[in-house]
Amino acid sequence: MFSTSKALKATALSCALVMPLSACGGGSNTTADGKPVLTVQVVKDARAIKMSEMGWTKDLEQACGCSIQWQDVAASSWDQQRQASLAAGEVADVTISGFGSGDMGEYGSLFMDLKPEMDKLPNMSKLFEAEPYARAISTTTDGRILGGPSVARGAARTSNHMFINKQWLDKLGLEVPTTWDELADVLKAFKDGDPNGNGKADEIPMDFNAPGTGGFGLFQPNVLLASTGITVPNGPLGMYVKDGKVHNYLTDTRYRDLIVYLHELWEAGVISSDAFTHDWSKYTGTAKGEGKTAIVGFTWMWTPSDIFGPELGDQYITIPSLKQHADQKEPPVWAYNGDDLAYQADRIVVSAKVANKDAALKFVDAFYSPDISVQARFGTFGTAVRHNGENDYTILDPPEGHDNAADWQFYQSLADGAPGWLSDDIKLGLPSIHTEVVPVDAVYDEDYSHVDFDNDILYSNMPMTPEQTSAMNANNTGITQGAMSKFAQWVTKGGVEQEWDAYVENLKKNKLDENIEIEQQVYDAFKKNMGMIKVNLNNRAEESEQSE
Ligand code: MG
Repeated sequence: MFSTSKALKATALSCALVMPLSACGGGSNTTADGKPVLTVQVVKDARAIKMSEMGWTKDLEQACGCSIQWQDVAASSWDQQRQASLAAGEVADVTISGFGSGDMGEYGSLFMDLKPEMDKLPNMSKLFEAEPYARAISTTTDGRILGGPSVARGAARTSNHMFINKQWLDKLGLEVPTTWDELADVLKAFKDGDPNGNGKADEIPMDFNAPGTGGFGLFQPNVLLASTGITVPNGPLGMYVKDGKVHNYLTDTRYRDLIVYLHELWEAGVISSDAFTHDWSKYTGTAKGEGKTAIVGFTWMWTPSDIFGPELGDQYITIPSLKQHADQKEPPVWAYNGDDLAYQADRIVVSAKVANKDAALKFVDAFYSPDISVQARFGTFGTAVRHNGENDYTILDPPEGHDNAADWQFYQSLADGAPGWLSDDIKLGLPSIHTEVVPVDAVYDEDYSHVDFDNDILYSNMPMTPEQTSAMNANNTGITQGAMSKFAQWVTKGGVEQEWDAYVENLKKNKLDENIEIEQQVYDAFKKNMGMIKVNLNNRAEESEQSE
């Protein structure tokens, strides 16, 4: 597909970069036998087979009465393509999991407004009626609906859960740590005490997912800020909400205290020397130890079996938020990214220039039928899902050769990236892999009792205006680079106390305060738009009974 001809014009080149889209590749919009053709770009997990090979996509083809030209993109290479695609103003007829609410401000004109088409989207209309929160996150600041959401059942309130090797604690006669100091003592004992019993000092007391230069993500030590009362969200760098007010912890002395603490741990040699450099597969691979020998003592992730593997998972327990100091007055809370575990906006978008509009709308709406919602998320009927009857399904265990149930799910479905709606009417029998997180997440009940879920949550799907998006993006370049490089430097080499004031000054110069103001406006507008809709602890939206 990629031409090497040097004679290519810039426009042709950009088309080649953004894949053979209808607007670029020419070609017919109908098949020889007159069926409408749709180009559908899907950004998916590296473990997934081709879309055309996933059995359930035949049901989609039938539902739209069209011929689908799938364009599969691995998530790892999407970001570059995404930017080229937006800059060129060329998107596929339909894109799945490729664009987010952040793109809808600046590039919204590339996508079809689905709101006037609701009579052609009966399943989506039903969803928006039953789930007003899904409608709120799908509606732009000027009232358009540019994408279809994913609405699932949130089994957890956060992706971040904290684990420690209980077998090691028992072996060394240690208690489960409840404060930062106790954790430091335990980690030092892990380092020196050969708790895995192999006669080698090969233990990695603490490990984490490497914080990149683009900001904090999941499974990183910034979650320890929850010890100080910050409900750490999975959102724009440093932003959090307390009592309805947006703050940023990057210039908060509690963040400085955390860095001082982490540097002490680094100096004591209890943090993996690879913690800032290893990639995802090295991080999760190391945690799985060597055979039956555990290597990592403490880290964060989704569930113990997910990060440590089924062989070692049982050695670990989930622990609640630590106190920073034994005598602190502020109760610890915990990280929260819950609304994006159950709700994601703009999972599926349609090009404003789509030639076969009716086919595209049928295609989109099919994702919100119960049968496709379940298959797109878990896999094809027969091999991955047993269809017991109307709205009644059982997710099957992985077959021979696919031992890991999570890998199996990603192999032949879009998993949690799928557009769709697992409504309360759907009866779903789930194997343990999908429910293991429930008791893990319940460990944080006490911490969450100190969170006001109406006023301490930074939501993940808040629509922004084009002006807000571009102002924030412009400021973020300097803020992010400055903050993330300093974080790594201070943890590994120290110096945060001496350099703190200059660093704070620098972030202010890079307009951190303006970004906090914008985030506050976005938050206030979203809360207003939500109106009577309330998100409860279990991530499900409910309409509050009455009044405002
Ligand atoms: Mg050892």
